[in-house]
Amino acid sequence: MSQADFTQRLDRILDRVAQAAQRVGRAADEITLIGVSKRKPIEDMQIAYDAGLRDFGENRAQEVRDKFPDFAPEGITRHFIGHLQSNKVKYLPGRVDLIHSIDSTRIADSVDQRFGAQGLRIPVLIEVNISGEANKEGIEIPQLMDLSGYCSEKTNLDFWGLMTIGPLTDDQDQVRQAFREMKLLSDQIERQIGVQGSKAILSMGMSDDFEIAIEEGATHIRVGTALFGPRVF
Ligand SMILES: *Cc1c(COP(=O)(O)O)cnc(C)c1O
Repeated sequence: MSQADFTQRLDRILDRVAQAAQRVGRAADEITLIGVSKRKPIEDMQIAYDAGLRDFGENRAQEVRDKFPDFAPEGITRHFIGHLQSNKVKYLPGRVDLIHSIDSTRIADSVDQRFGAQGLRIPVLIEVNISGEANKEGIEIPQLMDLSGYCSEKTNLDFWGLMTIGPLTDDQDQVRQAFREMKLLSDQIERQIGVQGSKAILSMGMSDDFEIAIEEGATHIRVGTALFGPRVF
């Protein structure tokens, strides 16, 4: 991956972000672009950094463990966006700045305990299975309010909002509907439970659907392939 190629891709994505925001009267700087660098070498991440990217997303705890002592340029934010197992949480303290994927009280307990043991606090989002697909990660809507309340009361967690992966379909209306429902849930949680950040985070939208997500209220989009190119595994 060359510096020029990456810069060109980044500029194109930022353009599309700005246009999507403008279509619905939002400011482009309300939206944070997370570059999903999973399975990509640190050299590519450095190229991305040199092009101006500051938010990096990873979805495997071991990869976080291996990359983030080595990749530590100034001013980056490290996002953990993948499914978490309790026995892998130990790799994260000190290596991530925001966890997007809390989906059970068990994982909330484990993250709270592991970060607390090192004297750290960690902002978290709850991952929602908005489409109700059986094989999808994330909490189902009926349990969302309870888990949000639970996270907001944990000593070492700061509850900042919600994350989802859009439904895996080519039907744009179905994707939009899911994102719209997420925005309603996010607003409801902000009202009823409150978030500890300045304003609720809504993390949704990937390479194929980030423009719809922005139009429906995403504050953070997670873009891998469209920025870093296809992944081999
Ligand atoms: C891999 C991944 C992404 C990025 O996916 P692309 O389609 O490559 O943009 C976003 N979110 C999560 C949770 C991921 O695992």
